[in-house]
Amino acid sequence: MEKQSRNIPLPFQQGQGGSSVREDFPILEKHIYEKYPLVYLDNAATTQKPRSVVDAMTDEYYNVNANVHRGVHFLSQQATELHEASRETVRKFLNARSTREIVFTRGTTESINLVASCYGEAFMHEGDEVILSEMEHHSNIVSWQLLQARKGIRLRVIPITDEGELRLDEYEKLFSDRTRIVSLTHVSNVLGTVNPMKEIIRIAHEHDVPVLVDGAQSTPHFAVDVQDLDCDFFAFSGHKIYGPTGIGVLYGKEAWLDKIPPYMGGGEMIQNVSFEKTTFNELPYKFEAGTPDYVATTGLAKALDYVSSIGMDNIEKHEQDLTQYAIHRLSEIDGMHVFGPKKNRDAVISFLVRQPGIPETDTSFEHFIHHLDMGTLLDRLGIAVRTGHHCAEPLMHRLGIEGTVRISFALYNTREEVDRLVSAIERVKQMF
Ligand code: PLP
Repeated sequence: MEKQSRNIPLPFQQGQGGSSVREDFPILEKHIYEKYPLVYLDNAATTQKPRSVVDAMTDEYYNVNANVHRGVHFLSQQATELHEASRETVRKFLNARSTREIVFTRGTTESINLVASCYGEAFMHEGDEVILSEMEHHSNIVSWQLLQARKGIRLRVIPITDEGELRLDEYEKLFSDRTRIVSLTHVSNVLGTVNPMKEIIRIAHEHDVPVLVDGAQSTPHFAVDVQDLDCDFFAFSGHKIYGPTGIGVLYGKEAWLDKIPPYMGGGEMIQNVSFEKTTFNELPYKFEAGTPDYVATTGLAKALDYVSSIGMDNIEKHEQDLTQYAIHRLSEIDGMHVFGPKKNRDAVISFLVRQPGIPETDTSFEHFIHHLDMGTLLDRLGIAVRTGHHCAEPLMHRLGIEGTVRISFALYNTREEVDRLVSAIERVKQMF
């Protein structure tokens, strides 16, 4: 990945000269209920957008807008150039070999559905197996269940430890002569667990089984290199990495993308059409039926340029510091239960807080403040968190809970915001 530094300090460098990255995000100036400065800790759901992303998209709509690929006229060619330059930006960001391996989709969900549907169509039959894990997002469970309903495949599930790490010993045992694919999340969107993906992929390849990585929660937080990982497919969403909504990426090794059939039919994905026979376009267009969201691809490229200019390593360092600080500060709260592993964890923290007056010996989560109450009251104090099952109901069942309160960091969050969260939790506790 190309690393240039534009010398804009992250929030922790505030006061050391220059402006803070926070100034790039106008929404962070907002006061919630016209009273409390916004503390936005719902970044795993979606991140805020820097000015450069919104400005580039507005500029494209005002000055370039035309449908891509099909036009001979000036604007269409300009829009096509921007769109294809964005593909190259994504290629560089993931360190893919070729832009033929970069398919634009609507997001992680669509990318996973594409693989389940098309790879499943070509390579999976009744009784064949996909290996998932207990910590998957619904998009990486239900997509395979749809294939299960169509073709009678089986889902094999890697269990997790009580701390929230994958049981690699059990993973190895799940392989059989019917295993056709492994599909796993890089980082848990609930526990923050960073899975040892290189090792997981190495083991799968020893069994000649390809791996799809759900990178929705990894790409925003640390550098990803698909060649180094050696994954076969990799999915991520633009809106979780400071880009626009409705755009995402499926990376696939060219050899796989060549072998699997198209996902949807329509314009763009064809070479020639007749009522007797249709031939398909070359990669990656074979998987991109219809008019693509070419303005969103520009926005995505701007977002990737933005994080690359700060440096993914700097972002990782800042967010790791913030996560450790938050865990430390949260643990000072009486009755606090933080989920997830102690090490190898990312900028996502799920927690519940015991109701005051309930003895510590009572570990039943029934006597914890309901996640929805905590989230609603934190919101009244200007703090945006997420509550619920986080689209990971099987994980909730495993943990024996209905839901958690989840905070998740982005490059613009600060230690002061963590302090405000901790004070706000103390205030909420006093209301019970
Ligand atoms: N996978 C994980 C781990 C996620 O956290 C999410 C979103 O929260 C998704 C998949 C789905 O992403 P999207 O809704 O952008 O398609």
